[in-house]
Amino acid sequence: MVTLPSNQSIVIVGAGIVGLDVALVLAERGYGSLITVVAEHLPGDTSQTYTSPYAGCNFSAISGSDPNALRWDQLGYSHLCKLASQGEPHRTFVQRTPSIELWDEDVPEEKIKHMSEYLEDFRVLESDELPQGVKFAVSFTTLTINAPKHIEYLYQRLKNDYGVRFVRQALPHLRNAFASPDTQVVFNCTGNAARTLPGVEDKRCYPTRGQVLLVRAPSVQTNIMRHGRAYETYVIPRPQSNGNVILGGYMQKGNSDGATYSYETESILRRTNELSQELRQGEQELLAAMSGLRPSREGGARVQRESIVIGGETKAIVHNYGAGGTGFQGGYGMALDAVQAAGGILQGLKLQLQPSSRL
Ligand SMILES: Cc1cc2nc3c(=O)[nH]c(=O)nc-3n(C[C@H](O)[C@H](O)[C@H](O)COP(=O)(O)OP(=O)(O)OC[C@H]3O[C@@H](n4cnc5c(N)ncnc54)[C@H](O)[C@@H]3O)c2cc1C
Repeated sequence: MVTLPSNQSIVIVGAGIVGLDVALVLAERGYGSLITVVAEHLPGDTSQTYTSPYAGCNFSAISGSDPNALRWDQLGYSHLCKLASQGEPHRTFVQRTPSIELWDEDVPEEKIKHMSEYLEDFRVLESDELPQGVKFAVSFTTLTINAPKHIEYLYQRLKNDYGVRFVRQALPHLRNAFASPDTQVVFNCTGNAARTLPGVEDKRCYPTRGQVLLVRAPSVQTNIMRHGRAYETYVIPRPQSNGNVILGGYMQKGNSDGATYSYETESILRRTNELSQELRQGEQELLAAMSGLRPSREGGARVQRESIVIGGETKAIVHNYGAGGTGFQGGYGMALDAVQAAGGILQGLKLQLQPSSRL
């Protein structure tokens, strides 16, 4: 429960899953009342400049195979398992779900080997179980996430249980996040805006467009994905949604078009019906087509501390953006690294959390 008034010692810019996960890690360590989240868009909003509500959303092998991505995946899996295990998927909107992933070629061996070490119920499928054209496949228990509802859950939990303050504001420059002299550290979790926001302007960032469909298909209970050379097809049951599924999709590098296209809808319906027996054997009602822009970055996500002088004082920015197609599965691991990067500053702020010692 909230015991202290909020202040602005810690500012998080961005209220997508990446910023919310940083707030959660800090709040779980007792810093909730020192955090202000500043964001142009908040959970409950929809906008082309706010990716998180458009995520599918699941844990999958789609992430990179570099050491950071492997570690963030494992930390994220463990975090999401906890949210699914708390016996309240209707609150967290995270659920354990059986999953199958199929590859037509280029199996990311390093990733599969690492995943096999921690995923629940992991199994490599036998060659006689593979559909035509598939070279390799695995099954395991994944986590599926109702993305728009999950970020609303985090938003309410952070405000009500930990006293985190949220302010709706579009910052013209990252240094405007230091508007209060209290502010010692700013976490930059601005997603796609990192490419253009003055004070960041990271030209390695680019959007990766994906069109998806929201379909009511209560017969679908299994998460299934097929990774092809030039396509990505998936069927993701959406937890706590009265039988809705997300069908996808596309990975269009450098495309920032927020429109949706009927020929893409037709292609998704054809590919997903070929892929999922559960889908084609049950009733289907198309509810919506949506397009979202994954905040991608050449070389992977940036989690890095930088110093900045504000009014003669040296302060810290911790950059945390570029999660691409994996912000929900990797965001918690990224947040742990981002909080670690802030290190000593947070130790100093701990003193503010002990008002009784000043009485
Ligand atoms: C179709 C699709 C499917 C996906 N499927 C999955 C999946 O299955 N699993 C998975 O893990 N991920 C998935 N993703 C990826 C996931 O959605 C992203 O990685 C994630 O949402 C990125 O979160 P973010 O917080 O970095 O950015 P965003 O959600 O875009 O949030 C950015 C925040 O920064 C704020 N902001 C930006 N600039 C400013 C400014 N100047 N001032 C104030 N505030 C500012 C915005 O208002 C917003 O609050 C998918 C994405 C798409 C599009």
